[in-house]
Amino acid sequence: MNENMTVMQLPSAIRLCEVGLRDGLQNEKQQLTWQEKVQLVNAMGKAGFPVIEVGSFVSPKAVPQMSNTDQVFSEMERFPGVEYRALIANARGVDRAIACGCEKVKLNVSASTAHNLANLNCTPSQSVAGFAACVEKALAANIGISGSISMAFGSPWDKEIPIQDVREITEAYLAVGINEISLSDASGMAYPTQVVDICREMKASYPQVNWWLHFHNTRGLGIANILAGMQAGFTQFDASFAGVGGCPFVPGAAGNVATEDVLHMCEEMGVETGVDLDKAMDISRSVVDLVGHVTDSYLLRAGKSKDLIRELPVGQIKNQTQK
Ligand code: ZN
Repeated sequence: MNENMTVMQLPSAIRLCEVGLRDGLQNEKQQLTWQEKVQLVNAMGKAGFPVIEVGSFVSPKAVPQMSNTDQVFSEMERFPGVEYRALIANARGVDRAIACGCEKVKLNVSASTAHNLANLNCTPSQSVAGFAACVEKALAANIGISGSISMAFGSPWDKEIPIQDVREITEAYLAVGINEISLSDASGMAYPTQVVDICREMKASYPQVNWWLHFHNTRGLGIANILAGMQAGFTQFDASFAGVGGCPFVPGAAGNVATEDVLHMCEEMGVETGVDLDKAMDISRSVVDLVGHVTDSYLLRAGKSKDLIRELPVGQIKNQTQK
């Protein structure tokens, strides 16, 4: 091998969280019934997903697509070793989690100070400090709690977010007792070299944090950003079936990277995910049927690379190249 070539540093295994039921479906016009969601979440358990974000316990007026999350939790099958989580906005969300047997919740704050001040009249760190009541309630009920920092890589109002702001929010999460944190690019503004820099710095500064990454594919960089995250030593990523999703605050926002595209990349590179790609593709196909439109999934369009291996059409290729 050429000495000057850089060898890509990849983890031997990663963990994926399928967030399509929450992040994907919350932006869809077509509302799925709880029965349809239960079928999907059960299929995900069978496919081997280690973590599944089932929905959110937020205002049904604000996000009607998620209003049946409680019912889904009550009716779904729970596969051993699978972590089922839900997004919450406040302590009321913890109450709903307790009532339907959800054992893991996730809070979110926008890293954009301008965004947070305009909407909530406080800084992101102040918002996180206000989560203390949720943490207390969750821990008392033996419910795991994690946090997310959306717009961590840039926002439509700030372009790039100063890393000092992301550090302050991380410290605010740690101060209320949350040490599992997701850096999220809801605005689809992250790019690979930035992801490597930010992730390396955050991992070195806060080794006690259990990190996740969450990339939207708005500008086609989602999968490159996941690869960049792997280079920086991150091993936990969110993805959405069929690439379904968007973001209500961001014009033109796309969904998360399609789960099957990430699984396929990992399979090709020899990175273990524990998820059955064919089963994941079946789930994504049924999601496309349910939402009723084409989605941003390369694999659903082109199939797996391995599917191309077929017998050589002897004689034909030569003729075609001569045309
Ligand atoms: Zn998202």
